[in-house]
Amino acid sequence: MSQEDLLKKMSNVPEPTLRRLPWYLSNAKLLKQRGERYVSSTQISKEINIDSSQIAKDLSYVHISGRTRVGYEIDQLIDVLEDFLGFTKIHKAFLFGVGNLGGALLQDSGLSQFGLEIVAAFDINPLLVGTRMNGIPIYSTDEFEQRLAECQVQIGVLTVPIEIAQQITDRMVQGGLRAIWNFTPFRIRVPEEIVVQNTSLYAHLALMFNRLTAYNQSE
Ligand code: ATP
Repeated sequence: MSQEDLLKKMSNVPEPTLRRLPWYLSNAKLLKQRGERYVSSTQISKEINIDSSQIAKDLSYVHISGRTRVGYEIDQLIDVLEDFLGFTKIHKAFLFGVGNLGGALLQDSGLSQFGLEIVAAFDINPLLVGTRMNGIPIYSTDEFEQRLAECQVQIGVLTVPIEIAQQITDRMVQGGLRAIWNFTPFRIRVPEEIVVQNTSLYAHLALMFNRLTAYNQSE
């Protein structure tokens, strides 16, 4: 599927559905590991606690329909979901800031299973520059524009200290990156056409604490 077709398809899909589809994919992979060949929406529903009619509706967006009684063929379900979610296509990315978090992301080979390949990282620490982590080269941030000219990269992963999050963002955008996966808790500002995904680990903590407190008080 071309990038354009994929975008067209995905833009018709409600965001909550897009958030749930990867759960169905992980569940299908788990069932495959257990040696299953077919799965019904009722079975998925029991495993991940989502209403089975919602699952059937979500899956109808990816144009896969189950067979009566047996359900969905697991291999097909995995292929269709991976393709639809863009996980079969490799998206190249640069990472900025090889601290604890950035380093952990470089070490995480699982990202490529979801279509993300970090091809290079940038830092200012002379102890890191010129080395490799998990085979990925770490360059000086000064080299960013030059390295970008050498390879087709559209995504920047942001794991620098919060004080320079905006500065590095501006530089990424100026250089021509089109999407930023922001792991800092800073709300970065970008032009309208730039895609931002905020994934600060800390952002949801307050929510969790708040619910936990409410739960404890209700006991
Ligand atoms: P974290 O867990 O958030 O990664 P940390 O304590 O390991 O935190 P930070 O101080 O947050 O590290 O810094 C993250 C990395 O960002 C460090 O390796 C630091 O050298 C790097 N860094 C700092 N300034 C820049 C910059 N201008 N460009 C790229 N990397 C930078």
